Amino acid sequence: MADANTFGIAGLLGWPVAQSRSPTIHNHWLAHYGIAGRYVLFGVPPEKLETAVRGIAVLGLRGCNVTTPHKQAIFPLLDRVDELARRIGAVNTVVVEKDGTLTGFNNDGNGFIQSLRDADPGWRPDSGPVLVLGAGGAARAVVASLAAQGAREIRVANRTPGKAREIADAVGAAVKLVPWEQREDALDGIALLANATSLGTAGKPPLEISLSRLPQKALVGDLIYIPPETPLLAAARTRGNVTVNGLGLLLNQARPAFNAWFGVMPEITPALRQAIAATFA
Ligand code: NAP
Repeated sequence: MADANTFGIAGLLGWPVAQSRSPTIHNHWLAHYGIAGRYVLFGVPPEKLETAVRGIAVLGLRGCNVTTPHKQAIFPLLDRVDELARRIGAVNTVVVEKDGTLTGFNNDGNGFIQSLRDADPGWRPDSGPVLVLGAGGAARAVVASLAAQGAREIRVANRTPGKAREIADAVGAAVKLVPWEQREDALDGIALLANATSLGTAGKPPLEISLSRLPQKALVGDLIYIPPETPLLAAARTRGNVTVNGLGLLLNQARPAFNAWFGVMPEITPALRQAIAATFA
């Protein structure tokens, strides 16, 4: 991290980036903790990624977040990538070290897990089997992070089975593959159902799944936060299950990044949630 007394800049590398809520989060924390700095958006097309990454340390940035389409492409441009990000196969946070070298991390899965624990402190990754729906980048982050935090059985169901197989190969024996058509059978005995497909996002069809076999004590998490309550979460809440939307992931993945860049582990306060909610209005 750079000298704490200098104006600190961090930002988001992506293409496009305009829709991101990350500036609202990090600039809220900078103001709240009285830290001189700014989080800015860097719209970087794929062919300019290398030039942009070379500039991160030279320009004195503390680091950056990385989003689509750069999460994989940035790997060879970094000096090191931590083990979890390597297993996930994607980087979402870059930290400039004291010597100017760049380290890549991925906090998405851990952020999701933390948001579940915030909602139900009694739940832990090893509380019981987990069913993850989806096998895209977000699912991969969730599955790898659950396994790293001790989950013993992670059932993964995806429309395209080959992508679920890739996750099993990367993460290991804790992953059990479930055919997409059998996702309802896989609800038996689970402690967590996580939707990491894009089904249920505003403008997309809902996820089709009957929850009749879902245990009453199971947590239900959806990575989607627009809308704030997907049809899946509404159905689970109606049955009495504890539900968590994707906003908690967004907020919790940002905490360790802010800490690495600015030296303070920030809190998720009602005021921050309100600031984010205002961006959806
Ligand atoms: P992705 O790589 O494009 O993966 C999309 C997933 O949805 C795949 O598993 C895909 O299955 C599945 N899917 C899409 N349409 C489907 C359909 N009609 N029927 C069955 N499955 C379908 O996307 P991602 O980056 O992993 O993101 C997944 C979701 O998480 C998105 O809604 C995204 O907004 C959300 N997310 C939220 C946060 C956050 O901060 N809260 C962070 C990251 C992602 P196939 O493999 O068969 O195509």
